[in-house]
Amino acid sequence: MRGWIDSHCHIQGDYGSQWNIPIDPVIDATGNNVAGLVCVGTDLDTSREGIDLISQLRNLLPEYPPKIIREADNASSQLTTDLSKFGLWCTAGIHPHDAAIWKDSQGELEKLLVATLNDYPGMLVGIGECGLDYHYDDPPRDQQMAAFAGQIRLAKEYDLTLVIHAREAWEDLFTLLDTEGVPQRIIMHCFTGGPYELSTALNFGAYISFSGIVTFSNAENVREAAMVCPLDSILVETDSPFLSPAPNRGKQNRPAWVSFVGDEISTLKEMDKTTMQDITRSNTLRAFKIADSGKAE
Ligand SMILES: [Zn+2]
Repeated sequence: MRGWIDSHCHIQGDYGSQWNIPIDPVIDATGNNVAGLVCVGTDLDTSREGIDLISQLRNLLPEYPPKIIREADNASSQLTTDLSKFGLWCTAGIHPHDAAIWKDSQGELEKLLVATLNDYPGMLVGIGECGLDYHYDDPPRDQQMAAFAGQIRLAKEYDLTLVIHAREAWEDLFTLLDTEGVPQRIIMHCFTGGPYELSTALNFGAYISFSGIVTFSNAENVREAAMVCPLDSILVETDSPFLSPAPNRGKQNRPAWVSFVGDEISTLKEMDKTTMQDITRSNTLRAFKIADSGKAE
């Protein structure tokens, strides 16, 4: 299936409160040239909710388009697409803001990983989002570092992609990756660094995922990073329901709007959108080691 893949969104549980029924974000996305999404966990509850939602949607999609699409009142004319090809994946992990729970929940997280990998082969593709966020320094840095180090180890042990959240903490983040050892595949999600952070991350073999921030008028440094980022390392994401891209700033974000991010990257790289869709889509499949399943291929 051709189109964009939203490499990072939250549509589960309370994050998905804007949707009436679980399939809505998929219908909405498909109407806007989106071929798949990765639903990302931020703590134990949202990781479980993401796994439940994505497994439920994966069961539903093969029924499409015969029944529900025809009944869905928000179905657009573009919904002749075979939704059974829509790619749906998820991750599980503990966000740095929730790192205080790491000590007591790491065992539960690992159990959840093992169960999901067994019960739904190929569906759970990453650990995270995890990392370091010193903007608020809450919880304290040592707790954030312990949670991040633990999740680096899990990514390596289970051959999962590490989805990294980094904010005002680059030096410690790079040091931890260095001392723990870089997992086989890492993604710098919602990249907001400059040229130095970009080249360091690329030296670690990271994929660089750009969000709606690349469309913000005051984000010249992020656009500069996108311009020099190698094509085979670029991913696009929404981080829904946060960070709506221009021209929809201030509204609740949705996977469909990853197209605005992709369009901006296409413009910066002076490439046509279809080519950029193909490049970022195959990058995303590679970044998450998603086997060729006919989904969003
Ligand atoms: Zn996120």
